[in-house]
Amino acid sequence: MRTIMIAGNWKMNTILDEAVALVNEMRQGLDRIDNVDKMICPPFISLAAVRESIKRSSIKLGAQNIYFEEKGAYTGEVSPLMLADLCEFVIIGHSERRQYFNETGEIVNKKIRAALKVGLKPILCVGEKLGENEAGRTEEIVSGQVKASLAGIDYPSGLIVAYEPIWAIGTGRAATGKQANETIGLIRRNIAELYGERAGQDVRILYGGSVAPANATEFISQPEIDGALVGGASLKADQFLGIAKQAAEIKNRLSG
Ligand code: PEP
Repeated sequence: MRTIMIAGNWKMNTILDEAVALVNEMRQGLDRIDNVDKMICPPFISLAAVRESIKRSSIKLGAQNIYFEEKGAYTGEVSPLMLADLCEFVIIGHSERRQYFNETGEIVNKKIRAALKVGLKPILCVGEKLGENEAGRTEEIVSGQVKASLAGIDYPSGLIVAYEPIWAIGTGRAATGKQANETIGLIRRNIAELYGERAGQDVRILYGGSVAPANATEFISQPEIDGALVGGASLKADQFLGIAKQAAEIKNRLSG
């Protein structure tokens, strides 16, 4: 059985003190939740301090981005080697990076390779735009992104995929559980085509896009969905905790 994961993407929010205060506010509550992987992705500059705060905690740590070169004259970039020292996971190909920083499938592919090379576990984000969704192109877009991102890469053990329809991110307009479940089932088949049935069954696939305590159960209880990548609601300790608690209840129901 795949372990449910609730991951928080803090995006470009929190200065150093705020990041430490936020993780301290959620730490005890999250540590009381068993059977669910809980992860937070603070901004780069707070990773080291947050890592210190969660030293004896069950909370996992991830970064929000990575550069694909290991070192050199790339002013302002953060390398895989630097991150490998600090955290276990890294978000790659978030739609905001594709949209505002022109990240193509080729760049995402290079970043995944770079992450894997140093042992970082990638959280590959894919998702369609509103117009693509309305034109019935979700399947084509999402499968295309999955295949381009992973082209020529051996099965990345520990890979996590997040399906995040762009029209649902930060808009308060989430997909329905049924829609998300269908697309995530498709991604699972894509992974199975690339790496075999076993990989398709093993890979964890999260839903992201306006997940909040009010709708978390609807997503996490779907058979194909293994948890949530949470943006806005991960910046509020009580909300993130509320989502993680719902995940734990679902997990206990399923295994009980
Ligand atoms: C995200 O950015 O990954 C995200 C899902 O954001 P939000 O939950 O705010 O829609």
